[in-house]
Amino acid sequence: MEDNYEDYDNAFVGNLGDMGYGEDTQAAGEPASQIENKPKIFLMGLKRSGKSSIQKVVFHKMLPNETLFLESTSKVVKNDISNSSFVQFQIWDFPGQLDFFDPSFDYEYILNNCGAIVFVIDAQDEIIEALQKLHQTIAKVYQINPNIHFEVFIHKSDGLSDDHKIDRQRDIQQKTTEELTDANINVHPSFYVTSIYDHSIFEAFSKVIQKLIPQLPTLENLLDVFISRSRIEKAFLVDVVSKIYVATDNSPVDMQTYELCSDMIDVVIDVSCIYGLKEEEEGLGYDQESHSVIKLNNGMVLYLKEVNKYLALVCLLRESNFDKHGLIDYNFICFKKAIEEVFSRKTTKAGAKKTIKKAN
Ligand code: GDP
Repeated sequence: MEDNYEDYDNAFVGNLGDMGYGEDTQAAGEPASQIENKPKIFLMGLKRSGKSSIQKVVFHKMLPNETLFLESTSKVVKNDISNSSFVQFQIWDFPGQLDFFDPSFDYEYILNNCGAIVFVIDAQDEIIEALQKLHQTIAKVYQINPNIHFEVFIHKSDGLSDDHKIDRQRDIQQKTTEELTDANINVHPSFYVTSIYDHSIFEAFSKVIQKLIPQLPTLENLLDVFISRSRIEKAFLVDVVSKIYVATDNSPVDMQTYELCSDMIDVVIDVSCIYGLKEEEEGLGYDQESHSVIKLNNGMVLYLKEVNKYLALVCLLRESNFDKHGLIDYNFICFKKAIEEVFSRKTTKAGAKKTIKKAN
């Protein structure tokens, strides 16, 4: 759901309730207080740095080329993705020219309910102004809420050579660290090289969101146990709508494997939408029955199973280890039960700690 604030100057005066926030985003049966507590991710950066494109490509399946026709926005665009996906967050896209710290905004209230700030820098453009704005933003936000995660996307990397990418990242990272050390600000932003033309933007967003999921250590633990018992090389727990992975096992993520797993979701959903739905039936083409096995020509197998209405487990394993797929299916049933248990608990810190203890 999208909500454009034509009159953004007034939009932030007062509290979020004044903006109709509670009503707009309330999912059926969900108490308003719970929604207010949903963490928000703020997308910030200069005008034309790529904020709207990132949001459209990751959460609205827009094709990267179509973003060329996106009109520049002068409004705050609030995007609630909580009803369609596991990712129960709001993404707010702030126009570059907007002064977030204008005293007429109730920015303190807004920041206290924010989980992460994603600051987008156009790596193909001059970076001096963007860096100034980044440093100012960090300094001010830190005073209000030091717990916010700062995530810097060095974006539009598709137009840069590999050497240039590394140089840009080193330059931005070094200048930011120096600036923060000089100002005595104890913040350690994370840096990601991204582009909407490849999977790097999905991978970066996955990492941003994972930091805000209290159950992450438990999910990783469960995935580790599952893959080692089933002789699987790599497993991702993926949000089907956005294809963001909310957790993976502890082995390093290789971009090609993630691309393969994420493409598999597209294949499964596309085939079931075209051939699986009855006439005039609408839906995502994804339900409890969804599963798929694809054998690749390099001796590997892709294995997908529905975990719940938002999440799928997608794994890559050797064909020789797939002989015992009865064992894998059995382990998956245990894994799915454990996941259900994790999410049926309250996501309070105390709840999360208890769950982790149990899994250990
Ligand atoms: P915003 O003002 O920050 O919301 O920027 P937009 O999302 O409107 O993007 C500005 C321009 O950058 C558009 O023409 C996009 O197509 C382009 N753009 C966005 N992301 C990328 C990217 O990863 N690579 C390239 N080459 N262009 C991009």
